[in-house]
Amino acid sequence: MLLDDHIRERWERSGVALVRQGERMHTERAYLHACLNAAGSQLHLSRPLFDLKGKSLEGSPLSRMFQSAPALPPPLPVTEVEAGLTGEVGEHVQMRASLELSRQKLQVSGHHGQVQVKVPQNHLWSPSQLVKFGSCRFHWMAEKVLKLLPFPEVEKTLQRATEGTFYHKVLEELLRPHLGIRPNPRTLLLELPGAFERAENVLLENGELPPLPHWPFQHHELLENLKNFVKSHYFMLQGTLPQQLEVPIEHTLQLKNGPFSYRGIVDRIEQTKHGTTVIDYKSRNYISELRRPDGSKLELQLPLYLMAVGGQLGRYLSILNREKHLLRTVGPAHTDKGYVWEDHKKEVMDFLEDTVEQLSQGNFQPTPSESACKYCDYGSLCRVRAGQA
Ligand code: SF4
Repeated sequence: MLLDDHIRERWERSGVALVRQGERMHTERAYLHACLNAAGSQLHLSRPLFDLKGKSLEGSPLSRMFQSAPALPPPLPVTEVEAGLTGEVGEHVQMRASLELSRQKLQVSGHHGQVQVKVPQNHLWSPSQLVKFGSCRFHWMAEKVLKLLPFPEVEKTLQRATEGTFYHKVLEELLRPHLGIRPNPRTLLLELPGAFERAENVLLENGELPPLPHWPFQHHELLENLKNFVKSHYFMLQGTLPQQLEVPIEHTLQLKNGPFSYRGIVDRIEQTKHGTTVIDYKSRNYISELRRPDGSKLELQLPLYLMAVGGQLGRYLSILNREKHLLRTVGPAHTDKGYVWEDHKKEVMDFLEDTVEQLSQGNFQPTPSESACKYCDYGSLCRVRAGQA
């Protein structure tokens, strides 16, 4: 409410103490703001034009400002969200909400996971990408195509991946001076601490080994682990000639639907009595394999490497498993009972053909399984809860 001269006069005559002239403008403004805030929809301002004796009255300085105030713009159209807040939800919003609710209940449509994604024909695959694709195409698409990556974590302790990098680097430093010659196992053992130190310096320098608080203790443990591995008969079979280390490979296979290219890094290539042999180091016992819908497993990495280098034998060696340093052997020269290289190779090729076909159809349907979903970061996107898997 605005106090004009007329009201002031009447109130003052009745004994009401009113603010002095200099404060009027501020007080009026404060009243106006209070009225504006309290108004439900519209605020009407009025003032008397004459006093009780018929004398014309001047408007207050504030009320005079309104005569020249610009007209208010027309109200903005009500947004979808504002309408929703008042309970007026449009039909298409309701449709989207019910779709969302049904997805949360895992009632997905037949087109779930169909994405129009063009993967170039010359896309370079790696064995780990292929295992991911084969285990769950949605997982691969979210990571490799949409590039939705989880936030990196700050390492406070030695992570498994860093530990693996470290072991690989030490073994590389150890064997590099022995390429092209048959190394003596005792010499390798003696040279191990020096190789360890060189690897440590290189990785600290390039930031791959972060400065960790417990490193002096872990340092000792890692060196002991490597001593056990290098001492083992499986580390370097008698008569072996190491040829190349940490070899980057890139290879293209001709499939029914066109070329298929992949790359990788072979830890070691050597010549043995079986011919060209490729070695892959694993820290523990885990070999990343594709788990197929029928529960069977398919190992891809060493077969792909053998095809790329024309190798005869592939061996996975575990650094930490003291009872079983040799985890598995594959390839044409591996003739143990129950293993047929031609069958293994055919399964790999069939899987690659299927991969190319699924890609061409834009089929990235999530295929949950306990093993695929256990460490997957995309559960909230594919809407398959870990429990469901
Ligand atoms: S949670 Fe499971 S189904 Fe979902 S994207 Fe990951 S692996 Fe695929």
